[in-house]
Amino acid sequence: PPALVWFRNDLRLADNPALMAAIEGGYVPIPIHIHAPDEAGDWRPGAASDAWRHRSLAALDTALRKHGSRLRHFVGPSLPTLQSLVAATGAEAVFWNRRYEPAYERRDTRIKQQLRGQGLRAESFNAALLFEPWMLRTKQGDPFKVFTPFWRAALAAWRLAPGVDAPKAIPPWREGPEGVPLAALKLQPSRGWDRGFWEAWEPGEAGAHEALETFLEGALRGYGEQRDFPDRAGTSRLSPHLHFGEIAPWRVAAALEAQRGGANGQDIDAALRELGWREFAHHLLHHFPHTTEQNFNSRFDGFDWARVSPATLEAWQQGRTGVPIVDAGMRELWSTGWMHNRVRMVVASYLTKHLGYHWRHGARWFWDTLVDADLANNTMGWQWVAGTGADAAPYFRVFNPLTQAEKFDGQGRYIARWVPELANLPLPLRLAPWREPGELRRLAPAYPPHPVVDLAAGREAALQRYRQLRGD
Ligand code: FAD
Repeated sequence: PPALVWFRNDLRLADNPALMAAIEGGYVPIPIHIHAPDEAGDWRPGAASDAWRHRSLAALDTALRKHGSRLRHFVGPSLPTLQSLVAATGAEAVFWNRRYEPAYERRDTRIKQQLRGQGLRAESFNAALLFEPWMLRTKQGDPFKVFTPFWRAALAAWRLAPGVDAPKAIPPWREGPEGVPLAALKLQPSRGWDRGFWEAWEPGEAGAHEALETFLEGALRGYGEQRDFPDRAGTSRLSPHLHFGEIAPWRVAAALEAQRGGANGQDIDAALRELGWREFAHHLLHHFPHTTEQNFNSRFDGFDWARVSPATLEAWQQGRTGVPIVDAGMRELWSTGWMHNRVRMVVASYLTKHLGYHWRHGARWFWDTLVDADLANNTMGWQWVAGTGADAAPYFRVFNPLTQAEKFDGQGRYIARWVPELANLPLPLRLAPWREPGELRRLAPAYPPHPVVDLAAGREAALQRYRQLRGD
């Protein structure tokens, strides 16, 4: 009998428990994808995510065809689509891999109940995490709110799922319904602003495995230290691949473990720890689903965020704040759909502290522009920097973007790459061009003559807001 295999953020053939369940259960799998962006609630996928998904779905279809099958696309809503597919194909089972975003968790629970109520086999699996959000608990049985004990518990329970290669052959389903062509989903930007993205990225399972290989052979050596320097290829760049499920995290973790030997233990531990932050973010999102909108730390609910000036917000978004490291990050994001982690922290701090804007304004912009936009990681990242999050940096610790640039882009190479009009400025002026307005006007007339918010004044205003909250 046929079974529907409903692909979501698990766009791969290897290590895919839902696909395996269908094949091992003796079913003929019918691989399907349902386009239903409204079901994401307030967080319908952003434009950069859509652009990635289009290519990743195409890659999955190609891979399925090599195995004798193919991917069929349908336009939602999901439940009636699944029901009509069941009716049309005579499928006896529906298999999928779980998602943990609050709106999807609610939807999937309902769908599972409905399908089971119809007498179908409906089953979901874990394809995305080393530890599902409910697996790890404090000694008191509560969810974790602090990373270090969470990660200690994870390492104590450490057991990686065995890697399972892509099935050799997938029995084909030759009948209808055919579904709609991928292009009909209109995931690809019509104006081609994503053209630059694909020099840096190859969406899909093959691209994910290549990124892992490149990381193991290159940046893993010295990762613990190099990961903070944005002009070096010092990190794995696996984040969009992991988000779309093009590679299993346990594959990545096992590949890292397999490299152990010699002096690289610290680098491997550091890389595993970052995967741990991803796990922690999903743990938090599951247990505290309101935090996509609201402060994790409710003490900040009375915080007096600054009123947003649309022109200033736009200057931040477009990389025209007049603070070179901030502008470089925002332009890297716009050009490639990704930004280095160190710089994400710097631009987020500038928005939430120096400008005093609510972290939601930044989270929304990242959501639309990042190819790795991920509700768990993005929410945690923004709340962490803003000081409102679980285990967050204290609010009064305001990143100084100039010190950050001096420390992590001391030669100004990252700045010169993404803000080319500053490449002619000598050091150290390139990092702080406002210090010599004459030189700036002469050598980079198009660059803002001074920061939208002066660094010292912005920092003082942030601390003042914080004192007010505490009632000092
Ligand atoms: P590596 O350093 O190679 O790390 C390996 C993997 O570990 C990453 O691919 C990622 O899956 C995970 N990881 C690494 N750092 C973190 C972290 N701090 N939190 C959670 N997971 C982590 N990451 C996203 O995937 N999606 C987001 O939407 C996102 N938004 C962010 C917003 C802010 C304000 C900040 C400060 C961070 C955000 N991050 C987000 C986390 C982090 O910046 C990226 O995961 C990382 O830069 C991806 O690059 P990489 O794959 O080369 O990372």
